Amino acid sequence: MINGIGAASGVAIGKAFVLPNWEWSMPETQVNPVDLAKEFERLYEGIRTSKDEIEFIKKEFREVVGPEESSIFDAHLAILEDPVFMSEIRGIIERQYKAAEVAVKEAIDHFVAMFDLLDDEYMKERAVDIKDVGNRLLKHLLGAPEVTLPLDTQPYILVAKELSPSQLAHLNPNYVLGIVTMMGGKTAHSSIMARALGIPLVAGLENKLQSPIQTGDFLIIDGDNGYLIVNPDEATAEHYSVVRDRQREKREQLELLSTVVAMTRDRVRMRLASNISSVKELDMALKYGAEGVGLFRTEFLYMDRKAFPTEEEQYEVYKLVAEKVGEHPVVIRTLDIGGDKHLDYFQLPEEQNPFLGYRAIRICLDQKEMFKTQLRAILRASVHGNIKMMFPMISSIEEVREAKAVLEEVKADLEQHGIPYDRGLPVGIMIEVPAAVMIADFLAEEVDFFSIGTNDLVQYALAVDRMNEQIAHLYHPYHPAVLRMIRMTVESAQAAGIGVSVCGELAGDERSLPLWLELGVSDLSMSPQSLLKVKHRMLNTTASEAREVAKQCFRNREITESEKQLTQFLDRNIIQHVVKGEA
Ligand code: PEP
Ligand code: MG
Repeated sequence: MINGIGAASGVAIGKAFVLPNWEWSMPETQVNPVDLAKEFERLYEGIRTSKDEIEFIKKEFREVVGPEESSIFDAHLAILEDPVFMSEIRGIIERQYKAAEVAVKEAIDHFVAMFDLLDDEYMKERAVDIKDVGNRLLKHLLGAPEVTLPLDTQPYILVAKELSPSQLAHLNPNYVLGIVTMMGGKTAHSSIMARALGIPLVAGLENKLQSPIQTGDFLIIDGDNGYLIVNPDEATAEHYSVVRDRQREKREQLELLSTVVAMTRDRVRMRLASNISSVKELDMALKYGAEGVGLFRTEFLYMDRKAFPTEEEQYEVYKLVAEKVGEHPVVIRTLDIGGDKHLDYFQLPEEQNPFLGYRAIRICLDQKEMFKTQLRAILRASVHGNIKMMFPMISSIEEVREAKAVLEEVKADLEQHGIPYDRGLPVGIMIEVPAAVMIADFLAEEVDFFSIGTNDLVQYALAVDRMNEQIAHLYHPYHPAVLRMIRMTVESAQAAGIGVSVCGELAGDERSLPLWLELGVSDLSMSPQSLLKVKHRMLNTTASEAREVAKQCFRNREITESEKQLTQFLDRNIIQHVVKGEA
């Protein structure tokens, strides 16, 4: 049994499918001039094999998806015949005596950098295609093992070095039983998405495996405890299949709570909304009784595509979400890329500290036209439901004012064109940077509501990268510093009479409930998968008792004290059969 980080709960049992690792180690030796012809032969052989492979995938893809989508592979074939690309590779081999794979790698880097510099979407798309084709060619030149993507006919456990949110967005959740990643931690966006989709995930296994997992290995993963078992014996497999079935049963039981009102035993009412990043997740959230959307991570609309979504495309999605949710609020967060969220067609700079870098509101205020397109779409959609708007990563008054000024410009333009929008649309900000906490009283005078993003707040407050598995044990959402920051934020909002909710992962941790009861926070937003678990917890909690525990937590000085006390409180309160009517 190998111990990693349990990043999305649940047990999964099945065969592994290992995603190819596109990181290559290149030979450093030079080619002997007399062997140049041989090197060219290797290159041509690699090109032939890559072409055959692309033809094969194209054919399969066409059968499964359709002819239009498979045309992308024609573009890939054309790159392998492109005279400029090929002569660049040949030139590097011929003049610098570099190995074929090194020449291919350098040519890819050269063209990708060049195309990225051009302010032309078509060229940027070509850069993505060149990378893709180049990687395929490198795979053959370096003799990496063969990989064909499963065509979703057999469910599998996906194994990857690291999984980007856009890769995860590609997957069909019905066929992915579970996910194993070498990198990543609990609050990486891919983990958040896996939880939202109910896919168990074990992360952070880098350097823990004695030998790499192979496609076809039989795996068990336990996303609650962070265990991975490769090729288990029969008794272990049997044990875990019982655990998995029991979990399934429990989930089905919990589903009975979907329509039950969220309140404590002593009738303190709270509203449980959901964090979503897609309509797929919204459907799940509504099924589990979410009272609205507390955080719509719109960046996922921008992912998994070749160019920025148009105003019309965004408008349609926001409208659909607002209509589906009905009278409850939908908090739409403006674009929050950067950090671990990237767009293929928008080149972010190479940064030493991406989470401290060019991201979120900083990008939007720098790329105002792009920002305005989103604001227009949100405003136009606001007449179709109860929409609120929220800016991420705010760290100063100036940022709020500048963002609001852009919003005013967009409103004026709509006004001028007679396009309707909700004039009273509430505007809020995420409190997820310690600087914002420290000036929360000033910020509260500028906006209509706060939403506390504990995922980033914890990483910035404790200086612990939320993506780094090596220091995951230092990521403590219940650290006294974090609890104080949360309290300061809530008190500032309450003093100013504005709304405050919590939408970080902490809200979905049922142990945190006493904190919100003590602070008087009645709006929480969480992953769809956490809704019923938290509601179950609430129905079994007496607010007056919980507040006593929370009071103690706010006095604790040591890192782990509060987490321990809240866990004990949860264990004491768990009543197994709540579903049977007493709720
Ligand atoms: C947060 O930081 O807590 C948050 C909710 O935003 P995200 O996880 O998308 O960064
Ligand atoms: Mg955040």
